[in-house]
Parts: sequence; C-alpha cells; structure tokens
Amino acid sequence: MAFTYYKRLTRRQQGIYRKSNEVPVVQLPNWRALRPITRRLEEVLPGGDRHAVREVCAELLNAMADGLKIRRVRIVVLTRRPSDESEELHGCYTLAPDGGHAVIKVWMRTAKRNQVVAFKSFLRTVLHEFCHHLDYVLLGLADSFHTEGFYQRESSLFRQVINKIGG
Ligand SMILES: [Zn+2]
Repeated sequence: MAFTYYKRLTRRQQGIYRKSNEVPVVQLPNWRALRPITRRLEEVLPGGDRHAVREVCAELLNAMADGLKIRRVRIVVLTRRPSDESEELHGCYTLAPDGGHAVIKVWMRTAKRNQVVAFKSFLRTVLHEFCHHLDYVLLGLADSFHTEGFYQRESSLFRQVINKIGG
C-alpha cells in the first residue's frame, strides 16, 4: 500500500480501504460454465468486431453476476483507447444512477497503433472493471479503491475464468 496515499484519505475512506484489503478472493460458483465464454471471447476478439465482442463480454458479465446473485452491469465496448502523452485508458466503471444500471466501458484498440488489444490484457480489463462493480454490490463498500485486496480479487477471477493451454 502507498502509505502517503492512505494517509491522505479521510478516516471514513481509510475504513473502506482496510475492508477492501481484507477480501483476497471472490469465488465464482459457476466458473466452469464461464470458461467456454472466455474461450469464445479469445476467438472473436482478434476479428475486431466490437459488436460481436460486446455480445460475448455481456454474456460473461451476466453469467458472473447471475452466479453471484448480484445486480447485472451493462457493458459498452469502444474502439481506440483515449490517451495523453503518459498513459491510455483501458476501461472505466460508472456507478448506477438512481434506478439505472451501472456501466462498464472498455476499449479494444490501443491508442498508439490502433491495434486490437491482446486477449489476456483485454480480459483483465473487463474483470478489473467488474471488480469495481463487486466492491459496491457484493462487498457493500461505499467506495472502490485499488487496494492490494482489489488486485488479488481481480487475479482470483482471472484464474477461475481463464482456459489453461490445452485445457
Ligand atoms: Zn480501476
């Protein structure tokens, strides 16, 4: 943890931060059913058809949410990543407005060369944004921080949905 960052948080935020750090794993009860979906994502992504990619991403996110018995999240797949000199945006999560749906946005092409993002990195982004959703709707946190626990949860999802080579 970046201690200086932590110290700048309010007392309430520090409480959320500590809670976020306490959960290293989110177990997906239906992980077996998810693997064929990520396999299809791997097949469809290089084609660069964002509607086809969106469809498979939506299927994956809906299946994960349903498996966990939580509210679903919408997904928007966009093409070229926005960027400035130092970094590019991979994805973002927007909280649900009252009565509405939370939305995940992901970009499928790199900022520099406009190439389709590598499968694993794209899947990581989708799972990363889904972890923000989980912070609010599953863990009941009032804010979503990039804690060590957050990244552990992201990795735990990745391990459950990824297909091993030859597997
Ligand atoms: Zn994030």
